[in-house]
Amino acid sequence: MKLIIASNNAHKLVEMKAILGEFFDEILSLREAGIEHETVEDGSTFLENAEKKAREIAEISGCCAIADDSGICVDALGGAPGIFSARFCGRHGDDEANNDLLLEKLEHEENRRAHYTCAVVLAYPSGETVSAEGYFYGEITRERVGKNGFGYDPLFFLPEYGCTVGELDPEIKNRVSHRAKAIRALAEKLGKKQ
Ligand code: IMP
Repeated sequence: MKLIIASNNAHKLVEMKAILGEFFDEILSLREAGIEHETVEDGSTFLENAEKKAREIAEISGCCAIADDSGICVDALGGAPGIFSARFCGRHGDDEANNDLLLEKLEHEENRRAHYTCAVVLAYPSGETVSAEGYFYGEITRERVGKNGFGYDPLFFLPEYGCTVGELDPEIKNRVSHRAKAIRALAEKLGKKQ
């Protein structure tokens, strides 16, 4: 069976291929599969967005497709920015402005607890889906620390490692992140199905 990953993000491709390789004969990115498609992410949850992406690619390609959706949820902000993490500041993908806005919103806040969430959905051409979620818990710092990772990582402090994800060895992040946990949980469900 062939699997198409609904992403061209090199890091996600490597991670998903490593964990899901045993379940599929061939795993391709959107580009490798020759698919150009942009899903409108208008769901109200991570799961809805990931499912929409996965279903659309499975329908277009006639193959299995896997998609993820992720973001950061801050307790003191009632779970915001959540599914709007990439465009918290109003522009898509402006990490610097997103981080500035988060620091500003939490300026007078003592409760700094937050978690990253990742939802991952595998859609079969039949329309059947298998989904899983993963979480990564931390606290929002008062300033940026570290250059590793992306997005909110310089502001995301991990008490058990004593550093931010911006300072964490990328190999460790790839083992313990919300994304890694979600993909492993999905692989476990696939293993039980076989
Ligand atoms: P996407 O699911 O790859 O589209 O990610 C959505 C947004 O959530 C990103 O643009 C980041 O702002 C944030 N995000 C998701 N995962 C991470 C992470 O591992 N580190 C930092 N930011 C993340």
